[in-house]
Amino acid sequence: MTQRDIDQLLAAVLEQARALKIPVSPRVDPHVRLNRRARNRFGCCILRDGVYTIELSAHLAEAGAPEAVSQVLAHEALHTCYGCSNHGRRWRGYADRMNAAWGYHIRRTDDFERLGLADDRPVRYVVVCQRCGRKIPRMKRSLLVDHPERYRCKCGGALRVEDAAQTALF
Ligand SMILES: [Zn+2]
Ligand SMILES: [Zn+2]
Repeated sequence: MTQRDIDQLLAAVLEQARALKIPVSPRVDPHVRLNRRARNRFGCCILRDGVYTIELSAHLAEAGAPEAVSQVLAHEALHTCYGCSNHGRRWRGYADRMNAAWGYHIRRTDDFERLGLADDRPVRYVVVCQRCGRKIPRMKRSLLVDHPERYRCKCGGALRVEDAAQTALF
């Protein structure tokens, strides 16, 4: 997807929100900024000098379907509404309205699977000892990942799994 395609998707998303009288900011940079570094988030909304800039993962722009890109842009666009810098009740109310009217599935977090992307990050799960803090990376699901309570760290501590595939959207 080209920069121009993505900017057009953003313009369409803002129009959809305004058609529902959702008060997205009139001061959104029409150019989406592609972020090549962030591997753990799909989008981000930055306010600087009164102007909102929406960032999109370059990885998603390259590999994602237009619907997935639009969904991430819509998620971020809602953060430009008054009182919506977090995922509080107001933001969730707008997300519900966008979902109902336009068939999105905007939610607080998204993951690779839901966006139809292959997760090519090498480590998907990290098993963490709750006592000594030892971290055990795992590439895929296993008995340890599914049932950490059946195992113990060498130090005797309990283990907990953090899912690296569950990715926050900001
Ligand atoms: Zn330990
Ligand atoms: Zn967010």
